[in-house]
Amino acid sequence: MARFERILEKSKNEAINEEEALYIFKETEQEEKATELLQTARFVREKIMGNTFKWSGGIARVLRCNLKPLCQYCPYWRKKGDEPLGIEEILKGVDYIARHGLQEFHLSGGTTLRSDGSDVLEIVTAIRTAGYNDMEIDINCGAAMSFDTLKELKQLGVKLVRSVFETINPQVFNKVKPGDDLEEKKKFARLIGEAGLGLGTGIMAGLSPNETKYQDYVDFIFYIKHYEHLKSVYVSKFFPFNGIPMKDHPSCSDWEAARLVAVMRLVLRDKDIGGAAGWGRDNYPTPLMAGAGNRVGGIHINRTPHYHVYQNEEYLYEDNMEFHNHMESTSKKLKELGVEVTL
Ligand code: SF4
Repeated sequence: MARFERILEKSKNEAINEEEALYIFKETEQEEKATELLQTARFVREKIMGNTFKWSGGIARVLRCNLKPLCQYCPYWRKKGDEPLGIEEILKGVDYIARHGLQEFHLSGGTTLRSDGSDVLEIVTAIRTAGYNDMEIDINCGAAMSFDTLKELKQLGVKLVRSVFETINPQVFNKVKPGDDLEEKKKFARLIGEAGLGLGTGIMAGLSPNETKYQDYVDFIFYIKHYEHLKSVYVSKFFPFNGIPMKDHPSCSDWEAARLVAVMRLVLRDKDIGGAAGWGRDNYPTPLMAGAGNRVGGIHINRTPHYHVYQNEEYLYEDNMEFHNHMESTSKKLKELGVEVTL
């Protein structure tokens, strides 16, 4: 058996190592081998995580981003007058999610370096006070919260907080996130565990130059693996939105991002792995086809965005808020793949 097949075969029963992961990235640039990789990743996901997925929701822009400069790939917070959602609007979002039967959602917002996180605490307290006591809440608001805030969030039933690196290559990080701080994010990731919370993180595919991209992916996967409290990783895809400083940087291909999801599955076998920003309805292959799971986003709530506004039955615009509900269309697609989604 050739080395490629041997590694995939081995991965069905045990995690691959760094050298094997790098080899797999290099070997799967052609669709035929990439397809074999994705099949294997789905096999591992199904074997370890099963075929039942859970719906989750999300509310974005709950806090303003105060990084200066903003991340070079980020389309948010670039327009004068951009306002985060207020508490009443967030509660309206939670109500929408709850009315559709979902039991978990994330709150995402911008970063204020060295903040104590009292603004996040205020939001979560308001949600609990409004009576949404059983809904699971994940937080993704930059790497800035005190230890006390993290402990209070845990008291309020929060299970997971994210420290999203996007890349752990320091040169690439400083280039694409010049206003952010990689070391602070690493410290925050540790603090999340010390507070007894689960860690979520994320990577953006397509940020690194071609010469280092595979090594950077491997370094990321094996770096985050060492966090014992790691529960969830999402993979975003770089897209050159109009108006961002990186608008001339090439868009990350669907296949490259999918291969990243798949290799991640062969290493981080029992973690929740998902797609995030940059994936759209027309992507092929999808994160799910690459072994992502077992959560699937069904509802996403945001301020009405200025950079693209879809108009179809899945989008409701009300009071300067966007309610994107794709539970029906996603269930249909997943059913075809033999996947069941539960509330
Ligand atoms: S921290 Fe998040 S919201 Fe702020 S600029 Fe970076 S990607 Fe955008």
